[in-house]
Amino acid sequence: MPQTYGQCSLYLYPEQKDFTAETLSSLISELQEICFLSQPVDRNDEYDFFTGDKFLNHIAYMGCAPAIKFEADPDDEGNDADFCHIKIHRHKTSRLICSQKQSTTPRCPHCKKPVRDWQDDKTAATIKCNQCGTTSNIEDFDWRKMAGYAQLFIEITDIFPKEAIPQKILLDRLTDITNTEWKYFYSCQ
Ligand SMILES: [Zn+2]
Repeated sequence: MPQTYGQCSLYLYPEQKDFTAETLSSLISELQEICFLSQPVDRNDEYDFFTGDKFLNHIAYMGCAPAIKFEADPDDEGNDADFCHIKIHRHKTSRLICSQKQSTTPRCPHCKKPVRDWQDDKTAATIKCNQCGTTSNIEDFDWRKMAGYAQLFIEITDIFPKEAIPQKILLDRLTDITNTEWKYFYSCQ
């Protein structure tokens, strides 16, 4: 993979942008029940988990026999050890997570044109399209699976863009648990 990707993750997020899950512990235990998540990586961080036994039923890797590391290399130092684990992020307000390493060109919901330099016309919750001048909510733009706007994100680390895809069984389960549809994107830092 090209060096420019940096550290990449697959993110799952609810379509309902202000969804936060009243009790995260019940969401977590549901995900443990289907063996998507296992135990916390570190007892001090309750939102960072090892992948579960059935992780690969829920996330399908493209290509043949990818070398996936599910545990930290004992020789690796620090917390950002390079292995596939699952982090849950909950924010006080909705936010846009997008790649820092690659330019993201969303499409305007009004004129459907790609909008470059959108950062210049972005407020907290809207973007003014520099093609047609219409101001629309951030979540209404088509981010082409390279960004997402939400309060709650499930991050699966160490996955390059399009290297692995969440399966319908997982997205359907999340929808059942939370009563909102789930989508996904990739982001590299
Ligand atoms: Zn437009």
